Amino acid sequence: DRVVRLADVRKTYDLGGTVEALAGVSLALAAGSYTAVMGPSGSGKSTLLNLVGALDTPTEGRVTVAGHDVGRDSEAERAGIRGTEIGFVFQTFNLMPRLDAIENVALPLLFDDWPRERRRERTRELLSLVGLGDRRDHRPNELSGGQRQRVAIARALAPDPAVVLADEPTGNIDTETGAEIMGLLDDVNARGNTVLLVTHERTIAEHADRIVHIRDGLIESIEQLDGAGRNA
Ligand code: ADP
Ligand code: ADP
Repeated sequence: DRVVRLADVRKTYDLGGTVEALAGVSLALAAGSYTAVMGPSGSGKSTLLNLVGALDTPTEGRVTVAGHDVGRDSEAERAGIRGTEIGFVFQTFNLMPRLDAIENVALPLLFDDWPRERRRERTRELLSLVGLGDRRDHRPNELSGGQRQRVAIARALAPDPAVVLADEPTGNIDTETGAEIMGLLDDVNARGNTVLLVTHERTIAEHADRIVHIRDGLIESIEQLDGAGRNA
């Protein structure tokens, strides 16, 4: 029941010289687990997340997500994985400005051909789940930062993905709202979703069950937590 697996993953970028962003990383995420990746700027966090998110392919080694081999799949197949198996939550929310909250959340379901009635039902459920049942027809610019991130979390959950990826999800909101957003991510994980979180903030990482510390493209250590940070 490992929904995500990285085996001896190397990722290099060639820009005249070669940059080794990941230098041999192996990591597995069990179904329902809650993992944070911490490391200094440039250590390879975004690269790792982009590989698990099927946005990019490894130079060497293997990345599998819900049974799909990300490195061997075509671009079209990877787009399919992103649409069905992966929920993204970004630092900058990445909502569609012209669409209201309902339409933003429903967007992933359009690509996956959900019938109209089920799509509506699911979208309502998700907006209630994130506490925005009364803001359904508001556009992003009519919502606060925290509310926008709630919409983004609802959107991430829409296709019932195998894994939810969060890249610095509290990076653009104040500390108090950030704590609320992390509480919501904790709930998402408590409902059984696998969550992978990238952050450079210790207090945020402590919401997870374990922290993977990376440096210079390598896992330096893996720290198991007791979950006490969630109530901090
Ligand atoms: P982090 O997210 O921890 O800041 P990144 O994964 O973004 O680290 O970057 C790891 C290394 O790979 C850095 O040296 C960065 O400059 C380089 N890198 C990341 N993405 C690219 C890219 N698209 N092209 C070239 N170099 C990249
Ligand atoms: P953050 O650490 O805040 O996530 P990054 O510095 O990792 O931001 O970069 C954000 C984006 O830019 C990532 O998608 C990464 O792949 C890309 N990137 C990072 N470094 C480089 C680089 N040297 N050349 C090209 N793209 C890069």
